[in-house]
Amino acid sequence: MKSDLQASPIEFARRFLELNGAAVESQGAGIEALIPDQLRARLDTAEHIRISGKPEDEQNSSNRNEDYVATYGAPILERMTGMALEKIPLTGCRLEFDYVKSGGFARLLEDRLTFYGAVASIETVAEVVADYLQVACRYTAQSDEQKEGLLTMVFNANTGGFVPGMAEALDSAGCRTVHTTPKAEAIQKVVSLSDQIELTVGRLIDERLEAFRARMNRRFQRDMENLKEYYASLEQEMKKSMEKPGLSDSARSDRQAKIEGLPAELASKTDDLFKKYSIKVRLQPAAAMHIRTPAKKIACRLSIGRQARQFFLTYNPVTRNLDPPPCSRCRKPISHIHFDAGLEPVCFECRR
Ligand SMILES: [Zn+2]
Repeated sequence: MKSDLQASPIEFARRFLELNGAAVESQGAGIEALIPDQLRARLDTAEHIRISGKPEDEQNSSNRNEDYVATYGAPILERMTGMALEKIPLTGCRLEFDYVKSGGFARLLEDRLTFYGAVASIETVAEVVADYLQVACRYTAQSDEQKEGLLTMVFNANTGGFVPGMAEALDSAGCRTVHTTPKAEAIQKVVSLSDQIELTVGRLIDERLEAFRARMNRRFQRDMENLKEYYASLEQEMKKSMEKPGLSDSARSDRQAKIEGLPAELASKTDDLFKKYSIKVRLQPAAAMHIRTPAKKIACRLSIGRQARQFFLTYNPVTRNLDPPPCSRCRKPISHIHFDAGLEPVCFECRR
């Protein structure tokens, strides 16, 4: 899994093209794509294009109009970014609080976060304006039946970390919401957080679809049992019919061949069932909102063995909690914090 905040341009291009109906294949470090008509007109490309990830490949390419290089600022990438964003309405707001917690952070830190092999002490607490990004995503899970839903998530725009519970807490945060025009950086943020958003959506959707998945699994098991039973009795019947007296040699070998073909038939039917009950999830970003709010930035001193480092945390007045820092490897928000050899925060699973 990626730990960098920025999705690489080539990854962005691949995701964009796939989402917009192009057939995409990897080709070395680059991609090769078949572009559907409608998209071709918008992107102004040939039907069959190649996009390489490295600028140095450009010299080697034959400079045909179907070869592109995905670098920041490349016209084709700009057109993709523009198209990706016109689909998501982006709004902005500023939160105003009459009161934001101003003390008791040591207690809060102790209650909410656990550091393993490290001792944390607060150095300073500063008033700041913190940026958050709320993203709403529609999803459709398709299997033997269909399930649709909407996921709303908020990310700390500074760390890129998902803030559990913030989307839900916004309505009852006891603050005024002033609508503002989102800044250009907010748009950049949406694009640069796309990896995090995707990972978080994946995790949250897995949770949401647990019951759905279990139901599809049960149906699959039930149909599988019926299928096996059917084939077992079919085999028995066929074997029995072979014991009939007066069966010609050709009829006998014909039946024998049928019996021998049963396992392959069962395997293919099993495969069909598997396809019928497998779950395909489709995602569509629905809206994004840039949220600015007063917050507290807490500078901590962490002593980890003989080493020490500074570590910043944000007190979030909406959740009335510290934003759990994201694991530096898998980006999951963590309240049980371990540290790797580079003194970066990691989750329990990523700690080695
Ligand atoms: Zn992790």
